[in-house]
Amino acid sequence: MPVNAAIGHEANRDDRVVTAGLGELLRINVLYLGDGYLAGQKDRFMQDVARFNAAIMIEPLSGYTRYFNAYAAFVPSSESGASKEDGSTLRDTAFLCSYYTNDVDRMLTCNSRRVMTMKKQLLPNADFIVMIVNSAQFGGAGGAMVVANRTSSDIVLHEFAHTFANLADEYGGTEAYGEEQPSAYEAGTLQCYEAVNVTRQTERAQIPWAHWLDADVPLPTQPETASASTIGLFEGANYLAKGVYRPTLNSLMRDESQPLGPVNTEAFVLAIYDRVSPIDKVAPAPNSTVIWQGPGTLSVHGHHRHVDVAGGPRLFQASRPGQGKRAEAEPANDAAFDRRLPRRSWQ
Ligand SMILES: [Zn+2]
Repeated sequence: MPVNAAIGHEANRDDRVVTAGLGELLRINVLYLGDGYLAGQKDRFMQDVARFNAAIMIEPLSGYTRYFNAYAAFVPSSESGASKEDGSTLRDTAFLCSYYTNDVDRMLTCNSRRVMTMKKQLLPNADFIVMIVNSAQFGGAGGAMVVANRTSSDIVLHEFAHTFANLADEYGGTEAYGEEQPSAYEAGTLQCYEAVNVTRQTERAQIPWAHWLDADVPLPTQPETASASTIGLFEGANYLAKGVYRPTLNSLMRDESQPLGPVNTEAFVLAIYDRVSPIDKVAPAPNSTVIWQGPGTLSVHGHHRHVDVAGGPRLFQASRPGQGKRAEAEPANDAAFDRRLPRRSWQ
């Protein structure tokens, strides 16, 4: 269904990347847009979208693809690339994306009014927007909209983790990022927020990932005593070398080439369940009377994914949610996290 966008370009969202096959209200909706692609470059854009989507839909999201709808809309630009790609030149592109935001060369941001106008027309229920900029110059930004240049699909999952799972950066205390402690920290005036994966707490019970800590792991944990899979309390995170801790030696939130790690993976899985009910429909309808072929009990298996009935016949009034309910849910492979995930139920 082509629509005429307010900014004078024609775009449509018929180009689905992956679909859950279900309505947008029941799923997490990702909208891919592109900036600095010329009218003849739609194929390039769609190939870039496929690459970016593949970069996001790796572990752990690869086990949950049916909870996501992803759409791509091609909006051609009059000029190629992005503004200030060379440090100064402005370009006439569809979403006015530009490097050197706040004078930082790699800070690549776009005109949010233009983006939001397009979102409203194409996919009002979009939960996340990923903007791919047609440039080889490294750059990107996180936030409500994830922006990255087309050769930097590897930073998208990291940025998505900030937006989607509220994960904090775990870097700090390395040569590249803040080996020196900011003096504001020493003065006690620097704000350091707590996150699922970053804390100033050293008391076991106060650590956000306490449920992941083995009883014999020393706190704080010295890197020399740990392996790559150790979950502990490692100093250096959130741009600071000291006094702030992260769960593992390394992870995607510290180095984009690394996997997420268990604590951050759990945050992703919980973020999915915060947004999506895995139960799509229930039967029988509330207040209907059905014959239940069994004297047994209702039981729930696994992660509330299905409800079985067993035993002999009896009349059954399905008057309350949870009574006589057979729930159909999209299967997900979170079995590995059963031990850690808090019990949840959906009605
Ligand atoms: Zn980050």
